[in-house]
Amino acid sequence: LFRLKPLVFKIALLFLLGITTNRNHLPTNHPSLYTMPFYGNLSFHNINHASKDFGNRYHLMPTAVLYPNSTSNIAHIIKHVFNLGLTSHLTVAARGHGHSLEGQSLAPQGVVIHMESYKSPGMSFHTADHYPYVDDSAGELWINILHESLKRGLTPKSWTDYLHLTVGGTLSNAGISGQAFRHGPQINNVYHLRVVTGRGDVVTCSDEQNADLFNAVLGGLASLGSSQRPESLWNQLLQRALYSDFATFTNDQERLISSSRDSLDYLEGFVVINRTGLLNNRRSSFNPKDPVQAEQFTSAGRVLFCLELAKYFNLEDVGSIEREVDSLLAELSFIRPTLFMSEVSYVDFLDRVHVSEMKLRENNLWDVPHPWLNLLVPRSSIHGFAKEVFHNIVKDTSNGPVLIYPVNKSRWKNGTSFVTPEEDVFYLVAFLSSAVPSSAGKDGLDAILARNRRIVKFISESNMGIKQYLPHYNTTQEWIAHFGAKWEIFLRRKMLYDPLAILAPGQRIFPRAN
Ligand code: FAD
Repeated sequence: LFRLKPLVFKIALLFLLGITTNRNHLPTNHPSLYTMPFYGNLSFHNINHASKDFGNRYHLMPTAVLYPNSTSNIAHIIKHVFNLGLTSHLTVAARGHGHSLEGQSLAPQGVVIHMESYKSPGMSFHTADHYPYVDDSAGELWINILHESLKRGLTPKSWTDYLHLTVGGTLSNAGISGQAFRHGPQINNVYHLRVVTGRGDVVTCSDEQNADLFNAVLGGLASLGSSQRPESLWNQLLQRALYSDFATFTNDQERLISSSRDSLDYLEGFVVINRTGLLNNRRSSFNPKDPVQAEQFTSAGRVLFCLELAKYFNLEDVGSIEREVDSLLAELSFIRPTLFMSEVSYVDFLDRVHVSEMKLRENNLWDVPHPWLNLLVPRSSIHGFAKEVFHNIVKDTSNGPVLIYPVNKSRWKNGTSFVTPEEDVFYLVAFLSSAVPSSAGKDGLDAILARNRRIVKFISESNMGIKQYLPHYNTTQEWIAHFGAKWEIFLRRKMLYDPLAILAPGQRIFPRAN
């Protein structure tokens, strides 16, 4: 299992960096930043990169960016800001890879901590224990952890679909992907954290030590992934198949994630709306099991649902794995001619979104606004939700993937800050739209935002128990409703660990006390 070293969290934490001032560019709005003794590297210019994120809809300049080289650098800065007390408006935001969607990693006129520059002392692997783990900086990218783990014949178990994100960034949310039904989200797989609180204190925490802070940080942020001992030559056998009936699709998905199905390694799914190229949109390496029948299949304008599942295997086991997967598929009720399959290496599979990123970058389509909407929908509401949303609100769009897959709440750690629906099984539903500048009308930014607002309005009025993932709200009332029964404890922890609300201003939950 992984043990992450410095992490921070949206209520309580932040790491900070050190500072070396460039005295030619001193901030006039926060003179205290240049009268304090600095350690490390604090920059007041060329900081435009810290003013935006992947969502690309907010552009809010910080006063300074801190490039930390130790936990004490971070603690020093936060303590300095804390000691300014109510006389200052300064806030501090840890920034991972800046792939938030709504400005969560920004600190308008505050200090942004560039966590990726904090690499010291580097990854260390502990493999002697029964449960091996890695100790690493929260600013590390997951893709680097994957490569280093595999050199030792290890791998984290739980991932995100895209690996060019930092550990601190995904742990501040949850880290959910097609392995979560079996291994839980990434926040489940953390042994131990070192946290800098909003008071500037450095606290080591785990389930046994300072457990309240540990749970507070997880799902506001925290750590990651467990390792297991796979063979390093793992490949993935991927299958895709289509459904036209939503109930049949969800029945099969739920059957596959039931606890008796622990042999499956990955399960996701997506909605196919208004498309003709049916199965090869997200990945081109799929081949039909029966090419002749597949050729004759037509979507006829229907909304379809695509199941995507994977099983890991070693090359010498390919025959038995294929038989195992075939018998699994025989129990499912997908449209038979639409079964497609692919074999890819473990790394290529996990790093698949990066391939799309490269292509989009070549065409200047990566740095565009991303008005994404992510939801967690309880099983009891998924049919009502699908009827209104897929067949009405988004039925005319084909803008970006719409993911949908269930997870088992029993695999979720209790007591963290992360908010889930109440039920045992809930679905992640992700509308991953891109607003290409040349697009107007139904695929333009305004139209996508209007659709998102309709979805949010529908779910808030229908009382379906749906929660936002990567949440974003404008009012305290909405945050209180989001946290529900967890609000009181969340508030108590905030008051305890970050009483001046210095940290994570970009989440817009608590205003800076002044
Ligand atoms: P940032 O955007 O830099 O920061 C996010 C938040 O975390 C901010 O509030 C920031 O202050 C805080 N933070 C960052 N580092 C630290 C730290 N060290 N200590 C304390 N707080 C910190 N999510 C999933 O769960 N599953 C997916 O499959 C998935 N796929 C994605 C694919 C793409 C292409 C993108 C852009 C995002 C995806 N996400 C997914 C969402 C992603 O997990 C979050 O947006 C995540 O926060 C991004 O990580 P980051 O390193 O860019 O964090």
